[in-house]
Amino acid sequence: MSMQERIRSVEERIAAACERSGREIGDVHVIAVTKYVSLDTAREAFASGLSNLGENRWQDAQEKWLALSGNEQAKDEDKPIWHFIGSLQTNKVKDVIGKFTYIHSLDRLSLAEAIHKRAVQLGINVPCFIQVNVSGEDSKHGLQPEDLPVFLNKLADYPGVRPIGLMTMAPYESEPEETRPVFRALRQLRDEVRESSIHAEALIHLSMGMSNDFEVAIEEGATWIRLGTTLVGKEEE
Ligand SMILES: *Cc1c(COP(=O)(O)O)cnc(C)c1O
Repeated sequence: MSMQERIRSVEERIAAACERSGREIGDVHVIAVTKYVSLDTAREAFASGLSNLGENRWQDAQEKWLALSGNEQAKDEDKPIWHFIGSLQTNKVKDVIGKFTYIHSLDRLSLAEAIHKRAVQLGINVPCFIQVNVSGEDSKHGLQPEDLPVFLNKLADYPGVRPIGLMTMAPYESEPEETRPVFRALRQLRDEVRESSIHAEALIHLSMGMSNDFEVAIEEGATWIRLGTTLVGKEEE
């Protein structure tokens, strides 16, 4: 399939999932995850209208970021909007903050502090998703759901961090329907913390759903889905 065909197919599947769940298509945003593809393919994705690109490691993203966003003379609208979706080491914060607009993997206060300090240096604040380990798998990063309220209150100490929502990853299931409880739990968690948190106004987004399970995630309220394989493909090294 060509990139255009894949984009059209994903758009149709998003539209159908929205239809089934009574949601507006405009409320579901797509991040094209380019971590498995070359610079040329990432460039093609952006040129095809996928304006939000996601990467999970700075070392791997660097070449693409420099090529697509490194020209300081170019206008912002001619550059992708970058999402950092992988776990972020504190010593990489200086590389990533300022280049990636959104961070999807805020999972500890030491990271919040590092992001805040860098953001203050740059005179910005950074929209962040707080990653929650809803499924409870040891291999997944993220806060335990019960730790979220306290974490959110402590974030007030780091105004360079602007919480905008929650992020989770479901375990891979051969039957995507089986991911539904994970996505539903994240939505319920967001609804609960919005009632009590000082960040209630801001905590609206849900970053959830990948190639294998994005339709279920949309039905459960995803506002950002992160699509690699099914949208931009996967290339061998
Ligand atoms: C790789 C990755 C994705 C995209 O994975 P696909 O299954 O190829 O769509 C989404 N989110 C995160 C956090 C990832 O690391």
